[in-house]
Amino acid sequence: MFSKKEIKLFRTISSKITLWYTFSVLVILVVSGLYFYYRLQHVLNKEIMDILLDESEDILQHFPEINLNLDSLKTEIEKETSSGKFFKITALLYDTEKKSIITSVNSLGFPLKISEKTMNNAKNGIETFETIKREDSDYNYLLLTRPVFQNNTPKYLLQMATSLKPIYKTLENFRDNILLIMPGIAVFTIIGGWFIAKKSLAPVGYITNATKTITALNLHTRLKPTYTGDELEELTNTINLMLDRLEDSFKKIIQFTSDVSHELRTPLASLKAGTEVILTKPRTAEEYRELLENNLIEHEKIINMVNDLLVLLKTDAAKQDFKIINLGKMLHELYNSFKLITETKKIDCSVVKMEDIVVYGDQKLLYRLFSNLLDNAIKYTPSGGNIYISLKDSGNEALVSIKDTGIGISENDQDKIFDRFFRVDASRSRETGGVGLGLSICKNIVDLHKGKIKVKSTPRRGSTFSVTLPKNHFNC
Ligand code: ADP
Repeated sequence: MFSKKEIKLFRTISSKITLWYTFSVLVILVVSGLYFYYRLQHVLNKEIMDILLDESEDILQHFPEINLNLDSLKTEIEKETSSGKFFKITALLYDTEKKSIITSVNSLGFPLKISEKTMNNAKNGIETFETIKREDSDYNYLLLTRPVFQNNTPKYLLQMATSLKPIYKTLENFRDNILLIMPGIAVFTIIGGWFIAKKSLAPVGYITNATKTITALNLHTRLKPTYTGDELEELTNTINLMLDRLEDSFKKIIQFTSDVSHELRTPLASLKAGTEVILTKPRTAEEYRELLENNLIEHEKIINMVNDLLVLLKTDAAKQDFKIINLGKMLHELYNSFKLITETKKIDCSVVKMEDIVVYGDQKLLYRLFSNLLDNAIKYTPSGGNIYISLKDSGNEALVSIKDTGIGISENDQDKIFDRFFRVDASRSRETGGVGLGLSICKNIVDLHKGKIKVKSTPRRGSTFSVTLPKNHFNC
């Protein structure tokens, strides 16, 4: 029935808003039209009842208390009933036997009846309003019957009647006007609604088209702010913030790739050069051994770096193998496994405080974290220096600190040491075998455990690395 293009048009937000808007306006119009129609009907009915009551009141004032002078009364009735310009009123006077005494000139042209109920009401001194229908007319009549008392006894019945045609005419007029303006309002609402919806949603088209053109090659492009202060401005800002983050991540990935290539080039180049030297001429077994040992060192560097990169990727990736870990036990094992190295380097390494604390974490990663810190402390502390390991309970957290009396880190560099491939002194680190990945691995592991890592350091005096890990963090 509808083409694909038409169905798509109906599904647009503009169409939906327009349809809802038009539907709401029409419902409001119909409901308020009906309300005003019935209100007007009520007011006009009340008005005409009041007129009949007023006119009858005027006539009743002319009733003599004792003797009824029919001629003067008839003149008075004629006067009262002929004064109405809009409503033609007929008045009739009956005695209590329902015998007509006076009929005004404004005759209705049909006889009026007095029902039993009306008669009973009159006897009780109550007036009665009735709506009567004439067979030969489209309009009803309103009839008022009032008792006339003389010496406190009902003597006569005064009837006042008028056609309700003027009321019906007014109501018909009102209804016709409403029906006439309704299509006009509907058309106006559809056009107006469509225009407003299109105008307010115009930025959506721009946002869609502009976003489609953004690729990895032009990730620096940003959407123009709409400055409309509405949801679309918020959407534009949110997309721009997302692009900021994406661009940042892209830059980091590019930087990381280039850093990795750069760092691998040096050991690979020395490996190549070493191999070329070996091949230049025949050598003694001793010379071969020495050159191959040099090559082995470069191999080890490459393997260490690749291992570090794998750990980095692992900590960047999803959930790890978390379980309950006794930190004290782990630090003791660490201390024992590094004992030989510290002794060889003549560094005094001691455990100053060790509380019994358990945390929820990945055993291998946490071991890697503390061994990296201890390894650095040993690397950057000269012989004769000290290293202190401690584990403290600080409320909801376990606090591990590894303090050394080594070369220290300048304040400037303290912020950068957790960045990938950052080394304070590249040549010195190369000597020690580091490529600047150790602390960034530490930072990743700590983040994964929702903990914190900090450094306090004074050049030539030493550094303290503190790691806090949440004790009750069982939902990592
Ligand atoms: P690396 O593998 O080069 O040691 P890290 O990421 O472990 O890389 O450390 C980054 C830099 O921070 C190191 O190059 C070193 O200059 C500095 N650093 C780390 N730990 C210490 C320490 N305990 N004392 C002094 N400097 C340190």
